[in-house]
Amino acid sequence: MKKLDGFSADELFATSTGLAYNDFIILPGYIDFAPEDVILESNLTRSIRLKTPMVSSPMDTVTESRMAIGLALLGGMGFIHYNNTAEEQAAEVKKVKRYENGFIADPIVLSPDHTINDVIAIKERFGFSGIPITEDGRPNSRLVGIVTNRDFDFEPNHTRRLGDVMTREVITARHGVSLLEANDILKKSKKGKLPIVDEAGRLVSLVCRNDLVTNREYPLASKDEKKQLMVGAAISTKDDSKERLDLLVDAGVNAVIIDSAQGNSIYQIEMITYIKKRHPGLDVIGGNVVTEEQCESLVRAGVDALRIGMGPGSICTTQTTMAVGRAQATAVFRCARFARQHGNPVIADGGIANIGHIAKALAIGASATMMGSMFAGTDEAPGEYFYENGKRLKKYRGMASLEALEKGGSKRYFSEESKIKVAQGVSGAVLDKGSLFDYMPYLIQGLKHSFQDMGTRDVTRLHEMLYGNELRFELRSPSAQIEGGVHDMYSYQAPKYM
Ligand code: IMP
Repeated sequence: MKKLDGFSADELFATSTGLAYNDFIILPGYIDFAPEDVILESNLTRSIRLKTPMVSSPMDTVTESRMAIGLALLGGMGFIHYNNTAEEQAAEVKKVKRYENGFIADPIVLSPDHTINDVIAIKERFGFSGIPITEDGRPNSRLVGIVTNRDFDFEPNHTRRLGDVMTREVITARHGVSLLEANDILKKSKKGKLPIVDEAGRLVSLVCRNDLVTNREYPLASKDEKKQLMVGAAISTKDDSKERLDLLVDAGVNAVIIDSAQGNSIYQIEMITYIKKRHPGLDVIGGNVVTEEQCESLVRAGVDALRIGMGPGSICTTQTTMAVGRAQATAVFRCARFARQHGNPVIADGGIANIGHIAKALAIGASATMMGSMFAGTDEAPGEYFYENGKRLKKYRGMASLEALEKGGSKRYFSEESKIKVAQGVSGAVLDKGSLFDYMPYLIQGLKHSFQDMGTRDVTRLHEMLYGNELRFELRSPSAQIEGGVHDMYSYQAPKYM
């Protein structure tokens, strides 16, 4: 057989030096198809397939319901963090499960006892003023009116009760109405908002006229058999997670991640065994692991996927402090190769900073990629933007940063009971990335181009090429890495995304 140029992955990783994504490059293949022909569909777990192999980290500055909804609509999936109470986490899961495109499931509502001032404050903060009024000022309670600008335009006394100024005759639609029908009613009634109510007149959701034009179809959406968006959630190996687990399952969670920096522990194995017994249908993702021996423990315990990475995260100080971990590309390759023999997909977690890293992670065996910092700067991540040195930023912190530990995030790191907390992460900020709905399509398209350059139309074929030694690699010397980036420019404009 003709000797192929470059090196197989086996040859590339057969050294005592751990490799990071930047340490190697993939040699180009043969192109006989367009980027549009590429299908990125891949397995997240044994049974969950995603159209976009990208998921978000369970971190309190990355994933709550808004991120999870956005990602699921775009074909990925979000993992809700657990630096909160079990009830709060389950409520976030429910919001994703209840989501219907075009219907706002938890609209801002007020009660008849609120005042015009309250409406003005909401308008200033969120930019809208059509607010449903329910009996007790909460969703799921009886709708009694609606307040819009027109109800108080000429009212000088802003301390007046909404009950006195609101419109009581509200055009509503019954829960179960389709988005098409709802949009039709809005058009005919020429109103701005259409409250959706149940048979008892309780407010279920809201459809907004302003959204009519932006209501898009999401052909990639990750949905379960009930046609609800899919969502994951993190739990710890601690005993109190058992209660949390039941709440998450009741809320409809599709997969749980057992969040641990070093997954090869008796605690995790016991937790996996417990979950598999109590909720046999629930997908369990174990980790984090970076060696074949660690993988073996968790595979034997019955996981449905493995999460790979110890120390590569952008906010992570684990390797510096603990002296334990592994360079991420080596970890992904070794674990993926091992897990494949047992039918387990692996998720490359941490250290992914651009499209090239996503492509490389998939090319060395990962079935999906997990990102924190890449998503933390989007509108959909929790928290507000702020300015520093003229730059618009969002907060991003490690779950083992002192700040997050103080808020209760030490479950991942075996240090909950310790008096002295040793941080394994930092807290800081990332640049504003705008909306996930602009960013993800860019990532998806970029990844398709990368697949085209590698000469493969889908992930299954990519992995066949990898294990058939058809996909060829090369190490990059330090100067090759410099050469492969932008260099020797006096100045240049970096693209908005990389
Ligand atoms: P990033 O995508 O490079 O920002 O890495 C995100 C990943 O870092 C997460 O999915 C976790 O696996 C990991 N991680 C989160 N918080 C910490 C921490 O405080 N220390 C170390 N690793 C962390």
